[in-house]
Parts: sequence; structure tokens; C-alpha cells
Amino acid sequence: MASYAENYSNNSAVTTLGGGAKDEEPDILVNHVATVDLKVPTCQESKDHYDHRSGKKVYHYCTSLIGELKPAPSRSLKGVDHAFEVGFGLKAAETDLLEYCAAYFECHPNAKSVIALAAAGPFWKWALINPKHVPEWNWILNEPADPKGYRVTSWSKRFSEEYFILGTERSDKELTKINEQHIYRMLIDGHTPDVPISLR
Ligand SMILES: [Zn+2]
Repeated sequence: MASYAENYSNNSAVTTLGGGAKDEEPDILVNHVATVDLKVPTCQESKDHYDHRSGKKVYHYCTSLIGELKPAPSRSLKGVDHAFEVGFGLKAAETDLLEYCAAYFECHPNAKSVIALAAAGPFWKWALINPKHVPEWNWILNEPADPKGYRVTSWSKRFSEEYFILGTERSDKELTKINEQHIYRMLIDGHTPDVPISLR
């Protein structure tokens, strides 16, 4: 009988494009993965493969959080200028997340929800998104099929009105809440399939 382990992996893709260009992919994904232990190989070639995979084979993964990170506003900004820049960054992240969430539910039609996290430097907001929140997407023009539709115009309202500041107690509490109420629950909600017979 094979043993198996469930865990989370954090994949992060650092944005390398300059000039404010959109990279067309999220900056953070938090994935739920379920794995089985690979048999320990005897030949060196297979051992390299085994080591590369940490001795595990993934038989299920799904995404619980999609995050978009925009730069922090300049620290020299004060008052309304600072508030404007924070709002500008968060809004830009939210706009990118609209497309990423539309793509997510298109690729994973059985997914019930995903957490969207928008950040501008240490300032962040989040929303629990379900398929009914995202608009139909025109993948040729790469924009919502109805840019003035309710799902587009109400998108920002899905996110909390106030932002959180990373490193503060309030932010820590909110991150703990997100983990306990949404991310950790994916481990125990029964959606993880059994280990395929071929891998037992
Ligand atoms: Zn899963």
C-alpha cells in the first residue's frame, strides 16, 4: 500500500518585464497538491528524476489563491498622493485578477471558488471569488465580452473596502482567517480524490 501526503506548494513567478508591461500571469499561486511516494529507483538516471521530484508524484492539484503584486508607492509620497498611489496599484492588481479569475474558472469548470489577492507593495486586499462573479471573457480581444456589464463594474466591490498592511497585527489576523476559513479547509473538505489505483 502506498503512503501519500497532502501539502501546499507556493509557486511564485517574479515579474521581470520592465516598462510597466503586463506579464499576463499571476505573481503568486497557492496550490493544494496531493502526492504519492515514488518507488526508490536503483539506476542513477532514475535517481536524478526521483530526487528532482523529492520522491513524490503529484496526482492532484488545484489552486486556492491567485495573487497579483504591484509595486509599492514611493515612500516620498505623502497624504492624498500616497493614498492615490496605493489605490492606483490595488486597482491595477484587481483589474489583472479579473482576467486571471476568468481564465481560472474557464480552465477549471468544477472549481467552486478561489481567493484573489491584490497588492501594491505591503498594502493588500482580498476577495473570495466564485464563478458567478467573473464575466464571460472574449479571449480573442482579451477583454470582458461585456466590458460595461455588472460583473465588471462590481468587480472592485468584491474586495474589502479598506486595505491591510503587511506586518501589522490586523494583517496577520486576516491572513490567519483566510487560511483557516478557506485554504486549510481545502485539505479537509473531501474534494481530494483517492490515490489512483495505478499508483497504489
Ligand atoms: Zn485540491
